[in-house]
Amino acid sequence: MALVICRQDTKIEQWKKALKTAAPDMEVYSCLEDHPKEKVKMALVWKHRPGSLKQYSNLECIASSGAGVDFIFEDSEAPKNLPITRVIDPILAGDMAEHVMALVFAYLKNLNQYKLDQTQKNWNPRAYARIKDFTIGILGLGTLGSVLAKDLVHVGFRVQGWSQSQKSIRSVKAFCGKTGLDAFLATTDILVCLLPLTPNTKGILNKELLGKLPKGSYLINVARGGHLIDKELLAALDTNHLKGAALDVFHEEPLGEGHPFWSHPKVHISPHCASVSDTDSVVPQIVENYRNLMSGKLLQNIVSMDRGY
Ligand code: NAP
Repeated sequence: MALVICRQDTKIEQWKKALKTAAPDMEVYSCLEDHPKEKVKMALVWKHRPGSLKQYSNLECIASSGAGVDFIFEDSEAPKNLPITRVIDPILAGDMAEHVMALVFAYLKNLNQYKLDQTQKNWNPRAYARIKDFTIGILGLGTLGSVLAKDLVHVGFRVQGWSQSQKSIRSVKAFCGKTGLDAFLATTDILVCLLPLTPNTKGILNKELLGKLPKGSYLINVARGGHLIDKELLAALDTNHLKGAALDVFHEEPLGEGHPFWSHPKVHISPHCASVSDTDSVVPQIVENYRNLMSGKLLQNIVSMDRGY
């Protein structure tokens, strides 16, 4: 039995080394080296080459090395009816919360505008906002959204969240389902998207939804580019309905050179770096699931095939 690492970035060797260090007995291969395909029972994937998993006829589990699994569902040639697992990791959740909080404070205190002013040697003190001035609304109160919600409450923000099922998190106003969305949006000043990308959430950050936010709101999308209709965000910014947006994820990554987001004065861009799986922290759960698979035990962190997340 063997595990193959399938990804198209430069991190294969890092993952292989971490797995071999944690479990020297494990047979681990990179998709880039010659390897016995028939021995592969588990594929550890991150944005693998679509269609590449079908060469493993004995595959029993597809393990995402991140929290998201949308790229697996989008691979129409990936073997069907296999369990898909994902990463649930406190470090990943903590990193996301820190990134979003950094964006929120940069917005409150005009830090992005001051950087822009600096490039023009423009001395221009601006009015700043305070924690008490804002309600932060989080789309998705799952593993990442709930940690962010608690951290924001801890520093004193009013926080509310929206999810599929009703949640109960101390000091967080919880909304759920289609019926709860409008009331949630109407009272949100900073909207953070932390939904998984599924057929139900694709394009959810559109004209209609943005239009239901109060005038002068701010958008933070750290989930997936596919949640956002780019043109409709640009229109909301250019008509001053939204004050700005911070985007970490895009339809096309890296973001295309000619994309209007690059030069838009109200858009803050980061290169899909809000929260990145830490190999040291994540490898133990991959090894455990590999051993569970070998011994016929239940796998952890299985994705629901019906929900797609
Ligand atoms: P998760 O634990 O599965 O949580 C997803 C949340 O979204 C849940 O609260 C779920 O509601 C809610 N939800 C899903 N579909 C919904 C719908 N149609 N309507 C209302 N609520 C819905 O996921 P997670 O681990 O927090 O991760 C969220 C996403 O963050 C990932 O899928 C990934 O795309 C993104 N991410 C981005 C980065 C980055 O660096 N930018 C890093 C890691 C992850 P229920 O709880 O009721 O099911």
